[in-house]
Amino acid sequence: MKNEKMYLINCTCYLNISRVGLYRSRCRRIPTFHQRNQGGEQEDVELVRGIDSGIWNIFLGGSKMVEIYDLIIIGSGPAGLSATIYAQRAKLTTLVIEANYVSGGQMMNTYRVDNYPGFLGISGMDLGTTFRRHADQMGSKFVMEKVLDLELKKEIKTVRTKKHLYQTRTLILATGTDHRKLQVPGEDEFEGFGVSYCATCDGVFFKDKVVSVVGGGDVAVEDAIFLARCCKKVYLIHRRDSLCSARILQERLMALPNVEIIWDSMVRSIEGVEQVAALQLEHLKTGEKEKLSVDGCFIAVGILPNNVLIQGKLELDEGGYIKASEDGVTSVQGVFAAGNVRTKQLRQIVTAVSDGANCVTSVQNYLMTKNI
Ligand SMILES: Cc1cc2nc3c(=O)[nH]c(=O)nc-3n(C[C@H](O)[C@H](O)[C@H](O)COP(=O)(O)OP(=O)(O)OC[C@H]3O[C@@H](n4cnc5c(N)ncnc54)[C@H](O)[C@@H]3O)c2cc1C
Repeated sequence: MKNEKMYLINCTCYLNISRVGLYRSRCRRIPTFHQRNQGGEQEDVELVRGIDSGIWNIFLGGSKMVEIYDLIIIGSGPAGLSATIYAQRAKLTTLVIEANYVSGGQMMNTYRVDNYPGFLGISGMDLGTTFRRHADQMGSKFVMEKVLDLELKKEIKTVRTKKHLYQTRTLILATGTDHRKLQVPGEDEFEGFGVSYCATCDGVFFKDKVVSVVGGGDVAVEDAIFLARCCKKVYLIHRRDSLCSARILQERLMALPNVEIIWDSMVRSIEGVEQVAALQLEHLKTGEKEKLSVDGCFIAVGILPNNVLIQGKLELDEGGYIKASEDGVTSVQGVFAAGNVRTKQLRQIVTAVSDGANCVTSVQNYLMTKNI
């Protein structure tokens, strides 16, 4: 793959730099800069191979050294991490951009993973950390930034974060999914005050309390099992009369003495003063209303694709997932999709990992065909 860079540092640049409050660092061999914020404090500006392309673009009007990556991967869940490992083996110059302060994506919210081969009963956090360590050992390069915008029309794609503009020949979107909301009164108001979407993250705050879990799939059942270990009582509220989670999880749940399932019911509102205190429930078959006293409400009613970046830019299916098959090829040349964010049958760690690997093969094929 070509690895061209553009270099231009001249006097004009330095004049402009001082005008906008950028200062050359004296102690580094490669030119690096600190930026003064509006309060006059010095902030470190993250640099890519010596020069930060975004800062040059914004302040200097375009003359700069910009590394054009072979591949940028957005997201470092299982799909993104697998992709970067394969990209390292393929010797592609690669950057992984991750919004979260840790890699691992949704895996990190899973207290126990039983279905990833070779790691029986490992915690999601341990598995995520192991994946990341593997990627680090292969020489992967990560930055912790949220991608805010993408320019996908040209052959060289541009990825914008708050501080930087990155350029790349190919892009793998591995942005995964986010939790779906109940969209009932009180949900937003009490988020962080009794309403949570992550039992493994927040369960500890409800030790010996009464909590509810809303949902009936794998995640809801797993959450209820997890919470039953530390909470006095767990209500599982489901809108149907049977659960849609894996059998083995249902069996584990049913064996727990402090779990009660409230069937055929929906939460209509979440109430409280400063913290969640009760839920208003409606029985869908009888229409009966009931007030259920709880200290916390864990919501696990499904997922939505993280597709904000690509709306109107890539073809999406009716659920908002990126239209792409196993090879990750999307409707835009040079842009590939891996993991939960794409159309697929099974959204799991093992399928996300497989997507990451497949996408890199597609990236290599694309780069070879295009010769860019
Ligand atoms: C509670 C729970 C339990 C689960 N249990 C299991 C299990 O036991 N077994 C199993 O196989 N699967 C399980 N799953 C599903 C599994 O975690 C997912 O299928 C898998 O993590 C999907 O991987 P991904 O890489 O596609 O996306 P994700 O894991 O969602 O990762 C996406 C990453 O992209 C980043 N990102 C998103 N937008 C941006 C942006 N704009 N800029 C930069 N970064 C961005 C996110 O921060 C995130 O790190 C579980 C999920 C949950 C929530």
